[in-house]
Amino acid sequence: MNIERNNLIISDEEVLRPTRVEVVLNLLSENFHKIKAATKNALVMPILKANAYGHGLVCVAQLMEELKADYLGVAVLEEGIHLRNAGITIPILVLGGIWGNQIPLFIEHDLSITASSVGKLNQIEEVAAQIKKRARVHLKIDTGMERIGVHYYSAEKLLEASLNCKNVDVIGIYSHFANSDSRDLSFTKTQLERFLETCSFYEKHSLASPIKHIANSGAILQIPDANLDLVRPGILLYGVYPSQEVKKTIEVKPALSWKSLVVYFKIIKAGSTVGYGMKWKAEHDIRAVTVPLGYGDGYMRSMSHKAEVLIRGKRYQSVGVISMDQIVVNLEQDSAYNGDEVTLIGRDGENSITVEELADWAGTIPYEILTNINTRVPRVYID
Ligand SMILES: *Cc1c(COP(=O)(O)O)cnc(C)c1O
Repeated sequence: MNIERNNLIISDEEVLRPTRVEVVLNLLSENFHKIKAATKNALVMPILKANAYGHGLVCVAQLMEELKADYLGVAVLEEGIHLRNAGITIPILVLGGIWGNQIPLFIEHDLSITASSVGKLNQIEEVAAQIKKRARVHLKIDTGMERIGVHYYSAEKLLEASLNCKNVDVIGIYSHFANSDSRDLSFTKTQLERFLETCSFYEKHSLASPIKHIANSGAILQIPDANLDLVRPGILLYGVYPSQEVKKTIEVKPALSWKSLVVYFKIIKAGSTVGYGMKWKAEHDIRAVTVPLGYGDGYMRSMSHKAEVLIRGKRYQSVGVISMDQIVVNLEQDSAYNGDEVTLIGRDGENSITVEELADWAGTIPYEILTNINTRVPRVYID
């Protein structure tokens, strides 16, 4: 079911499936404003890749446009086209690598292209000349991440080549940090130095510099010197810190909750097993409820035997292996009723469950938990 509509607010009644993600738009706005205030004069490019870190691509983009974000960042061409088709008009940079046959689509949809080598830049120039439209480009410099981008020690040839392009507007030049959310920032500082050294090309040749950018969430929190002309906050915008050890210099709040409803109540007799592989056995009679979500929604199977949920404000353990579409929760001797709310991520009364806890149970990072909540789960936006 697609519940992303043009208007941002969707009433609960419209959503049939009780397993849902709730996003509080005001919290996203507050997080955006806090980041904007902390990074002062820098432009802000909210990063909306992977369905806006699970928060819903189009609605988050519409909100960011309303809040006057300067730019949007996505990972792949299709995400950019989707935003243009949804009526988003602010500049959009696609951060990933490109193939030659995609270039006309980039240009036709007015998406900024990452040029990560001289060869790719020349391809962009050729296509732009052919179709007689200007291409917008950000040059990608590899300062130590070793994914895409021309290495900083041979970047000059890319910068020089860009000066010879007649049909390309070089809007930006950027790089990406490998380790900016760690306690030890020595390599991050090395990367920043390498990048600034590369960018000094423009000064040396008395040329106007394109927009310089390198700061992701970790750097925004820990290295103000890296803000440069534009910052690229991803996870921080959604109110989650990029790591446990990062300095929390900006206070943000998580905007996403994950909820469902009890669909079934029963008593499980001592000696009965729960779920596939019969991995959990009741030692004594217990009360239990079934909740209609599972790894098919992104509630990761690796959290089996560890995951806890909130019902009626209290924490309970899920038992048995997590199935594709259902989990079973052990209430011990407590009661719950069909239709009671179940909180997988978020607050219920005094208690709350964080995305960091789910990441611990699954042996992963909060980014993966958020981006794995898949499109089968409707997103509901609360103002
Ligand atoms: C994902 C990404 C970001 C945002 O990273 P966060 O750690 O979520 O802030 C910024 N820049 C690039 C190039 C990215 O790929």
